[in-house]
Amino acid sequence: MSHRITVVGTGYVGLVTGTCLSDFGLNVICVDNNEERIETLKGGVVPIYEPGLDLLVGKNLEAGRLHFTTDIKYGIENSEVIFLAVGTPANDNGSADLQYIEVVARDIARCMNSYKIIVNKSTVPVGTARLVKKIVQENQAEPCSFDMVSNPEFLREGAAVHDFMHPDRVVVGAESDKAFGIMKNVYRTLFLNQKTPFLFTDLETAETIKYASNAFLAMKITFINEISALCERIGANVIDVARGMGMDGRIGSKFLNPGPGYGGSCLPKDTSALARIGNEHGARITLVETTIEANARQKQRMVDKIEAALGGMKDKIIGILGLSFKPETDDMRDAPSLTIIQELYERGARIKAYDPRAMDEARWRLASVKNIVFCDDEYGVAKNADALVIITEWNQFRGLDLSRIKELMQTPKFFDFRNIYEPATARAYGFDYYATGRN
Ligand code: NAD
Repeated sequence: MSHRITVVGTGYVGLVTGTCLSDFGLNVICVDNNEERIETLKGGVVPIYEPGLDLLVGKNLEAGRLHFTTDIKYGIENSEVIFLAVGTPANDNGSADLQYIEVVARDIARCMNSYKIIVNKSTVPVGTARLVKKIVQENQAEPCSFDMVSNPEFLREGAAVHDFMHPDRVVVGAESDKAFGIMKNVYRTLFLNQKTPFLFTDLETAETIKYASNAFLAMKITFINEISALCERIGANVIDVARGMGMDGRIGSKFLNPGPGYGGSCLPKDTSALARIGNEHGARITLVETTIEANARQKQRMVDKIEAALGGMKDKIIGILGLSFKPETDDMRDAPSLTIIQELYERGARIKAYDPRAMDEARWRLASVKNIVFCDDEYGVAKNADALVIITEWNQFRGLDLSRIKELMQTPKFFDFRNIYEPATARAYGFDYYATGRN
């Protein structure tokens, strides 16, 4: 039997979830309270940049399996499985802000007209499934039974469609066989494909798996970032160190690329939330607390490095390539570029910047950097610059015309925070080249 699905929230996770489930042949209603977003989506236009998503939205809209509405009542009444994919940003104290989850929980309670499965897809603190359950029980307009499910999402922005369709695992936390059965059915396209491992567990375990996974990834990146700083001091090559470590099957090679510090919409807020949860329960996770501090230091270290090489920052023109928190997304939430650019500016630099996709985001997120000049391309950024800095490794930055860049610059200082060039090559073009973790 095909279960009808509603997904609440059409951001990076909700839109991908709803669209991919509809591509699995299910009937999906996507709800958002942002009217402009829903109007855009109804017209088949995707308001975020996520490779491949527009084609899939168009295809499933046309097939009549994918629907967009701002009417949450309609979504709840006409579905059995309701996914919550609203944002859970960080509060000032680092805890997760659950206000959007709570609003939707009350909406579900008010509108539910039959048995429902309420699925937390958002990343939420341990105990949130029970909190939603309580809110729904206390606010129901008419008594209907329901089950809570925790089904955390592990997709990566920039590869979100692929990751949803080919996940490393699907984690389902629930309390009843009925809920497990229906969730198996929702994911039957993946379940039938033996390659996708499924993990069925309780609610709290599923919630913990998500935070523990993200915190571990943040820790791994931070580890290699600290090793890269050591490599610079002792003359070792961090690329080979990472390669040598990654060849050990117990360690694995992924997430061992040094850079200017992790950022984005997940790792910073999820590490803060987990550290806080540990504290609240008298089980401090000191490795994660240290990771958060070390990541902040890494971003400062990048700025210090530029300042030292330029012999001061006052009125120096710094060209920045790459603003989004990673390539292939327009997302700039907690991007390292924000902290680094702000700090460069506060130390007296003049900033020029370019990103292939995130310029609209950058204009408002960097409004406090009064002297910033947004350029049309890489060469505009390089013109008259005292230093060129690659913060985000978009593919198009891998093939720069280095002779032209060098000609355009005032002084050819090149900071390749992502190690996308070979030091010998960059130096052969006449650059003072600074990599991360190798000389
Ligand atoms: P997002 O900010 O891109 O999207 C959230 C959407 O929810 C917005 O469109 C917003 O308008 C909508 N919304 C808020 N309140 C609503 C309401 N009451 N009714 C209807 N719609 C409402 O967020 P995101 O990046 O998609 O993240 C969603 C959740 O998934 C977060 O908990 C996040 O931690 C988690 N997550 C994100 C990623 C990622 O890469 N972005 C990966 C895994 C998990």
